[in-house]
Amino acid sequence: MFKGFSRASLSPPRVAIIGAGIIGLSIAFELVFRRGTRVTLFDTRPCGRGASWAAAGMIAPAFEAAAEAGVHPRLFDLCLESADLWPEFSADIERLSGLPSGFEPAPALAVAMDAGEAAHLAAISDVLTTRGVAHRKLDAGELARLEPSLSGDVLGGLELETDTRVDNRRTVTALLAALQANPRASFVEGPAPLKARDGRIVLDGYDAVIVAAGWETATIKVDEAGSLRSLVNWDVALDDIDCFGGQMLSVAAVPGAPARVVRSGHVYLVPRGGQVVIGATMEPGRAIDTPEDEIIATLKAEGAKLCPALAQAPVTESWAGIRPGTPDHAPFIGPTAAPGLLVAAGHYRNGILLAPVTAKMIADRLMGEAVSELATAFTTGRDYAVAGT
Ligand SMILES: Cc1cc2nc3c(=O)[nH]c(=O)nc-3n(C[C@H](O)[C@H](O)[C@H](O)COP(=O)(O)OP(=O)(O)OC[C@H]3O[C@@H](n4cnc5c(N)ncnc54)[C@H](O)[C@@H]3O)c2cc1C
Repeated sequence: MFKGFSRASLSPPRVAIIGAGIIGLSIAFELVFRRGTRVTLFDTRPCGRGASWAAAGMIAPAFEAAAEAGVHPRLFDLCLESADLWPEFSADIERLSGLPSGFEPAPALAVAMDAGEAAHLAAISDVLTTRGVAHRKLDAGELARLEPSLSGDVLGGLELETDTRVDNRRTVTALLAALQANPRASFVEGPAPLKARDGRIVLDGYDAVIVAAGWETATIKVDEAGSLRSLVNWDVALDDIDCFGGQMLSVAAVPGAPARVVRSGHVYLVPRGGQVVIGATMEPGRAIDTPEDEIIATLKAEGAKLCPALAQAPVTESWAGIRPGTPDHAPFIGPTAAPGLLVAAGHYRNGILLAPVTAKMIADRLMGEAVSELATAFTTGRDYAVAGT
């Protein structure tokens, strides 16, 4: 178990982070700017171009309120805590980078087009009401006045005050710019040469190592007496991080396009800088990096069912990305069974939302601060069966 750095230490500790997606970059940002630590980020590819570039940028805690069986029972709490951190996180990113963070605190709409979706929204609303989380139930007429782009087939829905959005590509760009301009942060292109020594995992020159390599976290290798062995040999739970492919597109924001995030079933529309993102597929076990024409055409048609003006909107981009998921759809945040190694990975469909709380929880651990009760629920080795009850 990592005990945290000694406060008596004279020079700031050196931390290595493996993976520079939004999770690794946010941890680095927290450590460098808020905790005074020196950080090196290792990435085998261009920073921030993995799932964090592919995401739609919804900050959507309410959608975890009515958790299905098998989902971590505290995921909703984690999502709410992180959504609360976003306004300050975004303001700090803008102040320290001089760039827009892309954060838009406009409440999202969740709408029902059939009875099944209406029942799901009712379940979400019940949990939000019980927990005292602000939201409004809207009938079809109220929704049409709020968001005239919606189809006349919409039955009703919810306005979700907690659910906002961010242009995640802007966030990643601004985080990178802030860190690149700070002498306490450095970047290495390539893998981190991890070693097993005296029963610990070490990286020469660093006081602590955090692995934040998204869906590839379990593939990281460690040199043990000259042979490369998988991290999974030290913490088998890391092998539970799997890939969940997702395909999406964006279209031009033609007249009549939505002004807010609108969700219905598995389809969502996210306005982003003169375009509307239409997402997304969820493809368990698929590590896809190229979108497929037929799937993109289907998604566009589904988006147009929700908002008819999008039928005529030209496609501006299509892409695929890979979500890192765990069996209970919640991330691993904190120490691993491997002495010397922390993990922040497996954020599934909520990695953008969960970036600030992940960064805070990891930094608290590293700096020997009090670890919240909530943080202890997201370590590796948890009992998924219990988590799913
Ligand atoms: C289609 C789609 C839509 C999504 N929409 C949303 C959304 O609306 N809201 C939301 O909150 N989340 C969303 N997500 C989920 C979110 O994108 C992810 O949970 C999040 O980006 C994960 O961030 P990450 O930093 O862990 O992973 P990544 O961004 O994938 O970063 C991991 C990094 O690790 C690097 N790496 C891998 N192996 C190594 C190695 N051996 N050594 C060094 N570096 C390595 C990679 O090159 C990469 O840069 C979506 C995801 C997809 C695919």
